[in-house]
Amino acid sequence: MHLDHVGIALEDAKEGADLFRRLFGLPLALERTVPDQGVKVVKLSSGESYCEFLEPLSPDTPVGRFLAKRGGGLHHVCFAVPDIRAAIADLVGKGAAMIDREPRTGAAGLPIAFLQPSSTAGILVELVERK
Ligand code: ZN
Repeated sequence: MHLDHVGIALEDAKEGADLFRRLFGLPLALERTVPDQGVKVVKLSSGESYCEFLEPLSPDTPVGRFLAKRGGGLHHVCFAVPDIRAAIADLVGKGAAMIDREPRTGAAGLPIAFLQPSSTAGILVELVERK
């Protein structure tokens, strides 16, 4: 299991990504609007991992509510797993609570699932299946 990406919530994803591109020289990997998740996503590559900038499409979305409550900054961390259903079963077996007991499709078109932050020291943790 390796760290796939960190998710950063901001009012302006492009502005945050442009700052990280300028400061750290990270190339653009993906820019996409995901209406069913209510976000615009801008992803930068950093070796095997990514920085994922998230901008809410409206205040009444998960990321919009996060920004209103906690302000901009680190939103979640994501681990890559080879088999997401096996990883979910393993975590549930260890007592972790899942937001997604069934995987859904993320912005990059890969299966994803989130854990309840109450199970993970208050940090929102995402899994992505990456072979
Ligand atoms: Zn993510």
